[in-house]
Amino acid sequence: MINHFIPKNLSEALDILSNHDCYIIAGGTDLMVQKHRSSGLLPTFEKDVLYISNLEELNFIRSDDKGVHIGATTKYRDISSSELVPQLFKDVISELASPNIRNMATLAGNIGNASPAGDTLVALYVLDAYLVLQNKESKREILVKDFIKGVRKIDRKPDEMITEIVIPHHDLHYYWKKVGSRAAESISKLSFLGAYITKEGIIKDLRIGFGSVSITVVRNRDIEKQYIGLKIDEFSQQIPEIIRKYDEIINPITDQRSTKDYRKKVAMNLLKDFLTKIK
Ligand SMILES: Cc1cc2nc3c(=O)[nH]c(=O)nc-3n(C[C@H](O)[C@H](O)[C@H](O)COP(=O)(O)OP(=O)(O)OC[C@H]3O[C@@H](n4cnc5c(N)ncnc54)[C@H](O)[C@@H]3O)c2cc1C
Repeated sequence: MINHFIPKNLSEALDILSNHDCYIIAGGTDLMVQKHRSSGLLPTFEKDVLYISNLEELNFIRSDDKGVHIGATTKYRDISSSELVPQLFKDVISELASPNIRNMATLAGNIGNASPAGDTLVALYVLDAYLVLQNKESKREILVKDFIKGVRKIDRKPDEMITEIVIPHHDLHYYWKKVGSRAAESISKLSFLGAYITKEGIIKDLRIGFGSVSITVVRNRDIEKQYIGLKIDEFSQQIPEIIRKYDEIINPITDQRSTKDYRKKVAMNLLKDFLTKIK
């Protein structure tokens, strides 16, 4: 028999998780689609289900010296209207799904779903965001890039849930592009986020992330580091070399949304456009 739990508070939710292996449902906009059978039939779940969207303790956005903390049941709608959330992140969310989905869905759900096309993941990788995972006894923190292990594979133990996401503060200039088939309700064919800081003509920070071109976000810190500290005119001369380095590591696949050739070409064009705009 499948149990459905609707806990009244976080402590009750963690108690349930310590005794039952559950699907956690927040907005349900991924999970209900995955468990959908055919029209007229209810979705089926093979194990117990824990509904968390009514947990008000996890519905928050706060800021402190570590960054902006977003609770696991906070909806995109509220994230995109918060003054505490960086504009970069709001730009990403404004292109995710549509208003009706953004009224239901959560950032924790996008991370928990670990799709190669998850739009917020590119920004979370580039901004070095991390999660707080909690079970009945303890809490741990983990970078989003370490939490995601592959397509729909995450580093979550059965008794744990994501309770918050922390986005460190930054003053990066950024260049974000989502490429899809239409303006709304479009799953990415690919996405690109470049970010940088220059000061007195010198590159102080450089970060580059690609979404939907691999099993998860591609970000290569070793390449980025090689160009930090260069003067902008020295950096400009290195652009062909930077493009060559990414050309070697961007190897997309063909699927129902796009072809590997299209993805590769557009990814490299966006990279070039970003690099030439750094000033
Ligand atoms: C029409 C439509 C359009 C969409 N468009 C986009 C799009 O453009 N870009 C995009 O990235 N996504 C898109 N999505 C996917 C989806 O809306 C997002 O991934 C959303 O962020 C999922 O959030 P949720 O709260 O609904 O997750 P849920 O479906 O509730 O959960 C998703 C996964 O995360 C896990 N999970 C949820 N909360 C927690 C938690 N607190 N701790 C541990 N695990 C947890 C669940 O167990 C599940 O595995 C779309 C979906 C639909 C139906």
